[in-house]
Amino acid sequence: MSDLTDLQSDGAVYKTLLESTQAIPWKIDWASMKFAYIGPQIEPLLGWSQESWVSAEDWAMRIHPDDRDYVVNFCISQSKLGVDHEADYRALTKDNGYVWIRDVVHVVRGEDGEAESLIGFMFDISERKKTEEKLISLQRELEALSFKDGLTGIANRRRFDSSLEVAWSTAARGNEPLSLILLDIDFFKQFNDMYGHIAGDKSLTNVAQTLNLALAGPRDLAARFGGEEFVILLPETDANGALEVAERCLRLIEKQKIPHEKSDGTSTLTVSMGVGTLIPTEATSPTDLVQAVDKLLYVAKQKGRNRIEAAQW
Ligand code: GH3
Ligand code: MG
Ligand code: MG
Repeated sequence: MSDLTDLQSDGAVYKTLLESTQAIPWKIDWASMKFAYIGPQIEPLLGWSQESWVSAEDWAMRIHPDDRDYVVNFCISQSKLGVDHEADYRALTKDNGYVWIRDVVHVVRGEDGEAESLIGFMFDISERKKTEEKLISLQRELEALSFKDGLTGIANRRRFDSSLEVAWSTAARGNEPLSLILLDIDFFKQFNDMYGHIAGDKSLTNVAQTLNLALAGPRDLAARFGGEEFVILLPETDANGALEVAERCLRLIEKQKIPHEKSDGTSTLTVSMGVGTLIPTEATSPTDLVQAVDKLLYVAKQKGRNRIEAAQW
């Protein structure tokens, strides 16, 4: 074979190779910003015919509006610097859908170092993106679950501990008061004995949801502390504000009128609360506050239950 036939058959081989890969090859002439070539695979992927890719403008207009500015600016700046690059974006399909593309770009430079043309491959990465998005949403779900109490649906102890840490340091920095309410259901052992554990669980959920609804502040948090004990964290709340929340909770739980025959006197389910307020300092820790409020709760129980015992330090 002559050299020319060799070259021609090589060309045919390259063309066959390029046009049979999953990746879509393309070439843009830098000076005119016109497509010199785009693989025929583009049409089955996006629906736009091979001939419809005339200039870089066609490419830019077929990028999702949210991705367009970033991707176009990035590709132009990298090309001007003569740096090979890649970008992920959503490409518009002819039927108004989007396909995630990874565009990998090689900058061909002339002897003067200036860009002559851009040669690239577009890869369909929609499957990978779907898996990625699914993973991210699963991760979010898992994170939410790990902060949620399985029975009552409100925040769990872990969430409370972490929120208390944050609220504590914020309050210490701002010299702001912080309040805590610990709440324990009265005679709950007897409730379970009388009505059964399932009814007990339902009442726990009822109380939890009632507490959750009683909160007004955006950073207030009601959490299940453990068993039939709940905690309410009130950042930026002074003693009066905390007492108001505690009284509202007491009233709202009373209004639920959950029957409890073995409860002392009331014949409905009641709760006792400890309410403490302080301005956090170096000398105190979140655990000290929880312990001090727990003591107040104990006093409320001693004094006959269905009541609030409050203090500030
Ligand atoms: P007190 O008024 O002194 O608080 O009396 P009490 O009977 O409520 O005593 P305590 O607070 O020690 O009772 C805890 C009881 O709460 C023990 C357990 O039977 C019940 N309990 C704890 N967790 C759950 C739960 O998840 N579901 C149900 N149904 N009961 C629970
Ligand atoms: Mg208890
Ligand atoms: Mg109890």
